[in-house]
Amino acid sequence: MDFKLSEELEMWRRTVREFTEKEVAPHDAEMDRANDLPWDIIQKMSANGFFGIPYPEEYGGAGMGSLAAVITIEELARGSASVALTLDAHWLAVDPIFLFGTEEQKKKYLPDLVGGKKLAAFALTEPVAGSDAAGIISTAVRDGDYWVLNGTKAFITNGGAAEIYVIAVKTDKTKGARGISTFIVEKGTPGFSIGKKEDKMGCRGSVTTELVLDNCRVPAANLLGKEGEGFKVAMTTLDFGRICVGAMGVGGATAAMEAAGRYANQRQAFGGPLSKLQAIQFKMADMATGIEAARLLAYRAAWLRDQGQRYSKEAAMAKVFGAEVAMAACKEGIQIFGGYGYTRDCPVERYLRDAKLLEIGEGTSEVMRMIIGGATLKELA
Ligand SMILES: Cc1cc2nc3c(=O)[nH]c(=O)nc-3n(C[C@H](O)[C@H](O)[C@H](O)COP(=O)(O)OP(=O)(O)OC[C@H]3O[C@@H](n4cnc5c(N)ncnc54)[C@H](O)[C@@H]3O)c2cc1C
Repeated sequence: MDFKLSEELEMWRRTVREFTEKEVAPHDAEMDRANDLPWDIIQKMSANGFFGIPYPEEYGGAGMGSLAAVITIEELARGSASVALTLDAHWLAVDPIFLFGTEEQKKKYLPDLVGGKKLAAFALTEPVAGSDAAGIISTAVRDGDYWVLNGTKAFITNGGAAEIYVIAVKTDKTKGARGISTFIVEKGTPGFSIGKKEDKMGCRGSVTTELVLDNCRVPAANLLGKEGEGFKVAMTTLDFGRICVGAMGVGGATAAMEAAGRYANQRQAFGGPLSKLQAIQFKMADMATGIEAARLLAYRAAWLRDQGQRYSKEAAMAKVFGAEVAMAACKEGIQIFGGYGYTRDCPVERYLRDAKLLEIGEGTSEVMRMIIGGATLKELA
């Protein structure tokens, strides 16, 4: 077993770290206030090839694999959860096109998405169904060479900002999960519009909106995967996204630990720095240990994916643990800051609001435990 990253991955980590420290982190507080997508940063990420990291060179990517993608998300999240989330959500739509698309669909859509010229979004959740994804009620009905989509999607990251949407709807209402199909929908398609923009608690530099499908006519050629295969497309997509969410947890927790640690080293109490107090050292110990463990879980899940092995359970483990490590690090980080930690001037207050999303989006912590528990019991049966 070799825990050392390749020189190529270490170099890429340094590149993303330098980019994040210079171009991303200094603007995170402003993004939080503005509650809008930082297009200038997105464009710089695109120019630096961030969008194509995991995808093959034939579609304009860097062909560096999932581990490199996870490192990218981790490093970006250390500077801004919002920016990391924007890229993660983009990949949630690119991945199903890459894995399930026809060669024509890949040639048509991937170069712009992988090259970062267009942003993408993945839409599964509806006002009536999130965790119970098979319970979605939006529909698509075949009409000659088109499918006609109707319904509303809720909480869609990159909504409005994205040009390309991968949308899951029911093509057979009688079949539950097996009645779901996914479609590629281009912004500007008649009948497709952007609904309410959410005023979120955190990750406010990432946009989240409703999508409205009102007799939206989508060419039959835009069916992604087979008819009735949409649930599998969505779950496969989320497996990769969940590793990225785990990596967001690692990045967010690291940011909280570093801020709290620096403060503890300089804040004086009882005749010395806070960092001399064992109670503070124990908090730092738990943060540092949690971060290492969460990182290993995320990297292993990414490695399994790169080896072509199954990784649904490991992705769920990486997500639930990374999310909880981030929440704990932010909560204890605020405690180390004392009263200042409870003000908007303290960055960890923002990190805590950002981290809470990680326990909800792309499958809640309860759903992750259902996946892990189910898989574990099956292995023992
Ligand atoms: C900022 C943000 C961005 C998002 N981005 C996207 C996106 O890009 N695309 C997309 O499709 N969706 C997106 N989502 C939606 C997200 O995936 C859902 O919110 C999430 O899956 C939970 O679904 P829900 O909100 O309907 O909650 P519900 O499913 O109603 O769950 C409510 C609570 O009940 C619990 N619960 C539900 N069922 C069970 C069960 N069987 N056992 C135990 N507990 C259970 C849940 O864990 C949760 O705590 C986003 C959400 C947010 C907040």
